[in-house]
Amino acid sequence: MSKIKPIILLAGLSDDLNTKFENILAAHDFRTTILDNSSDILEEIKKDYPELMIMDYNARGMDSLDIARSLKSNSKTKRIPILMLIDTEKPVQTERGIEAGCDDFLSYNVEEQELLTRIKTFIKINTYRLLLDEKEKFEEILNEISDGVIVLRPDWSIEKYNRNAVNLINLSSQSVGADFIEHCRENFSITKNLYDYIDSPEKELTFELIREDKTSVNPLFILVKCNFIKSPFGKNLRIILTLRNITESKIEEMLKQDFLSLISHKLRTPIVALTYSMRLVMKRHELNYSEEELDGFIANAYKKSKEVNELIEKLLVFSTVVNDKMFMKLEPIEIGQAIRENVEIYTSSRSKESSKTVEVEYLFPEESKEKVIFSGEYLKIILENLLDNGIKFNDKETARITIKIIKENENHFQVSITDNGPGIPHEEFENIFKKFYQVERYFTGAIEGIGIGLSLIKHILNTYDCQIWVESKIGKGSTFHFTLPAFKDAV
Ligand code: ADP
Repeated sequence: MSKIKPIILLAGLSDDLNTKFENILAAHDFRTTILDNSSDILEEIKKDYPELMIMDYNARGMDSLDIARSLKSNSKTKRIPILMLIDTEKPVQTERGIEAGCDDFLSYNVEEQELLTRIKTFIKINTYRLLLDEKEKFEEILNEISDGVIVLRPDWSIEKYNRNAVNLINLSSQSVGADFIEHCRENFSITKNLYDYIDSPEKELTFELIREDKTSVNPLFILVKCNFIKSPFGKNLRIILTLRNITESKIEEMLKQDFLSLISHKLRTPIVALTYSMRLVMKRHELNYSEEELDGFIANAYKKSKEVNELIEKLLVFSTVVNDKMFMKLEPIEIGQAIRENVEIYTSSRSKESSKTVEVEYLFPEESKEKVIFSGEYLKIILENLLDNGIKFNDKETARITIKIIKENENHFQVSITDNGPGIPHEEFENIFKKFYQVERYFTGAIEGIGIGLSLIKHILNTYDCQIWVESKIGKGSTFHFTLPAFKDAV
């Protein structure tokens, strides 16, 4: 393959000098282009970017200082070194040359050796400059990458990293030279024994860094992909790591797994009881059950099948609402009236099924005509779920529920539902609004529910820029506050 020869531009030189330089340069593998008017120079530079330019101070037919200035002020041409031929007896020429941006000066009778040394030095410096530019660009790109990137030396010590890596695994300026594995072991558990891979012949490796869910810090899962850069003899030269924060998808995955076992458990409990009751009914002749006993089995089977039905119903509503498949019409609703109606319907149907007494107190006037703009169907879901929680988690014989409405501001009403239940620990205030989350994590199945009610409510309210939050004291009870958009009559 023929090597591309560097181009040297000879601008405005006398014929003698052109011949002299051309001969010297050709003998040392340079190409030369001879130019003697300024418009040609600019054209030539655009066409065939030269490595260097030699220009005569006293150029024929052109203003060499002007050309130097215009090349140096243009971002595309300013990197081209300009060597100016001057009369060394006249320091003013050097001064003006410097002012115009020339990089170096040669005398008219410059020796071959000196000419070559100067040219080669400038070409080398320029190459380094370009490399530095590229390096800066590379570092800029590295910092723009949304993944963390870390470069390790073959002994796994840290050589370089980008901004996102700093945030992900908490690197500092002292981390350069530190042992990557040790650094990670201090903060994370690592899913592979990295010491096994120090001299590994592998080309790629994937592992995870996991920071457990502790009360003081949130969980963090980082997926790390390693690419081993090898010498032709198989030795590791560098290890490039890309780090990606996969916490959200990990938690989602864990929740799904929890959810499946939770659902199977929650469904199995009533179905086992239902099957058992029905089996007894089927054996009624053989086992000679009394009418009364049979009624008991059938009533129990009915109760359990209702439980299964309710559970499935809840799941269906949840998946339709959360997947935005339910389009609700927003309408002006008299909020006090609507709350009273929904609560009455809910508590009276509940009182038929459960022995627990429920007392509801309304802390707003019966005749209140304040209006919100919301979906009646969604309001029903929100109220039912909050009441259900206030009653089913309640450890008292009589569940006392208080409901308050206040006008928070011009745009929103705030509804607060208070119970006298067991309360919720402070550190769970955010968690309970997450999907499939139940405070009683290692649930026994004794308490109904699957941990979707609050996340469903939050999803609905957030869709309409409304909020929900909780205040609670252990042993005293909980208050759930939520906002609803105020209806404004057209004026
Ligand atoms: P579910 O009721 O199906 O368990 P939720 O999403 O409605 O799910 O509630 C999540 C968790 O928050 C419940 O499992 C419970 O531990 C806690 N919780 C919700 N409301 C109350 C309440 N009023 N009193 C005590 N704990 C509650």
